Amino acid sequence: MSNGEHWMRVRAREMTPRLVEWRRHLHMNPEPSMQEHDTARFVAERLREIGIEDMREGVGETGVVANVWGHGDRTVALRADMDALEMTEETGAEYASRRDGMMHACGHDGHTACLLGAAAILHEMRDGLPGNVKLVFQPGEEGAGGALRMIDDGVLRDPEVSAIAALHVFPELASGAIGLNRGFVTAQSESVDLVLHGEAAHAARPHQGVDAIALAAAALTAIQQFVARTTDPIHRKVVTFGTIKGGTRRNVLADRVEVSGTIRTYETETREAIIDFIGNRLGQIVAGLGGRLEASLSEGYPPLCNDEWVLGCAADAAREVLGEEAVVELDYPSMGAEDFAYFPQAGEVPAAMLRLGTRNEERGFVWPVHSTRFDFDDEAVLPAGAAVLANAALKLLES
Ligand SMILES: [Zn+2]
Ligand SMILES: [Zn+2]
Repeated sequence: MSNGEHWMRVRAREMTPRLVEWRRHLHMNPEPSMQEHDTARFVAERLREIGIEDMREGVGETGVVANVWGHGDRTVALRADMDALEMTEETGAEYASRRDGMMHACGHDGHTACLLGAAAILHEMRDGLPGNVKLVFQPGEEGAGGALRMIDDGVLRDPEVSAIAALHVFPELASGAIGLNRGFVTAQSESVDLVLHGEAAHAARPHQGVDAIALAAAALTAIQQFVARTTDPIHRKVVTFGTIKGGTRRNVLADRVEVSGTIRTYETETREAIIDFIGNRLGQIVAGLGGRLEASLSEGYPPLCNDEWVLGCAADAAREVLGEEAVVELDYPSMGAEDFAYFPQAGEVPAAMLRLGTRNEERGFVWPVHSTRFDFDDEAVLPAGAAVLANAALKLLES
């Protein structure tokens, strides 16, 4: 191979135009969680084109699962998520979203393209593959728990999966590099919905009503103060409210305000303290101001903890195809949440997720995921991701 490069790296690089075409098609046609119908069809068509026929569509509603059969009893899995976000793209890229108010701002278009590339490489080498590889194209990562739906629909059975690996784009790391988290990768999440009930009145005579907007301001400030001043500062936590809705006109006191947000934690003690404050004690503060609070909290994704063996195999795979210098140990986990965590938690399969760097300052690829300007250099990132995924499957089967 040229310059002593690993053959999978060479093969993935040769495949670059196809990988880029796939990713840009997906990027232009983003679909929301659990509505990835065109995306799933596109994935199934590409898999057939590659020559992979053993496939099941509609797994966990809109997921696609395919098997590359090698020689051996063991099966390992690779996973990519496929959904996009309700956001309006502002990258100005020629391949920007063609769908109003939808955008692939979390790189799942890239994950899907990388897994298709890995599928092609593994299919080509199937006669030399010491086992089987299950390709999991998952719907609904962004809040809908698509991983759990696929697990419930039997994605880890028939054949039984003994390990699973995945990648996620990571704009804090150089384009095409791989980041490793030993242990925790992403946090526990919960959803929180608050409804603040007041009493409408004339804006000029607030004492005749209860201002729900002022109640919301007090409640949100109290929550942030609780988090900052009452939980252990060493513990990792963040509470963010992303929506607020209320009021009908400028000269009427709002009688109702709704806010929704998310809680991210690692330590159980802090998680329980925040839940207790919002769920039980915040109502007293609101009542003290003359209003009423309805708070509902629901458990989101579990924390993701990388399995040492799977991470080790995937890291070896990355070093082999990309070189030692391209693989970086990351000091901190993320406060993000990932439903890939269901594969080890509910599915009881050892799992690891690698970070795939996308940062390129010169080309302006510096924006975080979930930004309207998030984008990456797909010609550099996709072949690296495809080669690492394919080789990770091979290393897992060989170990
Ligand atoms: Zn996301
Ligand atoms: Zn994501």
